[in-house]
Amino acid sequence: MTKHACSLFVLLVTAAMAQPLKPIPDKTVILTFDDGVSTHATYVAPLLKKYGFPATFFVCEFPPDFDDKHKYLSWEQIERLHKDGFEVANHTWTHKNVGKLTAQQLTEQLEYIERKITGFGAPRPVTFAYPGYATSPAAVQTLTARGYLFARGGDDRVYDPQKDHPLLIPGFTTRKDNEQLILAGLNQAKDGKIAVLTIHGVPDYAHDWVTTPPELFERYLRYLKENKFNVIAFRDLSQYIDAKTAARMVR
Ligand SMILES: [Zn+2]
Repeated sequence: MTKHACSLFVLLVTAAMAQPLKPIPDKTVILTFDDGVSTHATYVAPLLKKYGFPATFFVCEFPPDFDDKHKYLSWEQIERLHKDGFEVANHTWTHKNVGKLTAQQLTEQLEYIERKITGFGAPRPVTFAYPGYATSPAAVQTLTARGYLFARGGDDRVYDPQKDHPLLIPGFTTRKDNEQLILAGLNQAKDGKIAVLTIHGVPDYAHDWVTTPPELFERYLRYLKENKFNVIAFRDLSQYIDAKTAARMVR
């Protein structure tokens, strides 16, 4: 092989590696639920099962009221979500702004949730959601070192795997008054882009500013069903994207 042909070959291989493992279908949407809110077990999970939708629950022990089971899930309820086939993943132990933590502090925060999750027989989580959507380059390094593949922040924009780092994936936060933004976001899920929804309590008894009214939530599920969206859990991104290759390509 000539030097020129050789570099062309390397270029082609590199380009091929950047491609998704499976083509990402149009209308691919990921449902993620943050903060371990009580209504995830009492309302959301039964409804998701009715619609046949997978989902990811990013759990933590939200202070100071984690023991108030009117507001937050118990670990028994979190275990039940896993046993029902949902993904249960890491949102730090105590909902910390990761930008303000040392690598060791973040590691402790991650490890606590990893121990709780593996304690009931689930695999060690490889996905993460940033509390308060605060990201940092140091946190990306720590997550990478611990084997995390995909992590979600905020930003209210569509995820473009060709441009966004797999540990800095944006999501749309559902609120009681932003239905148009969410529907517009869902309709950007095409041409290789994926809409990730971040949902808190339905309703949320702890944080009213991120509550989603039940009737609005069910409207979203009906919309996804009627319009034949490809609804996946966050971990299912591995079917379409090689996280390690993607991390190198978009750096
Ligand atoms: Zn949160």
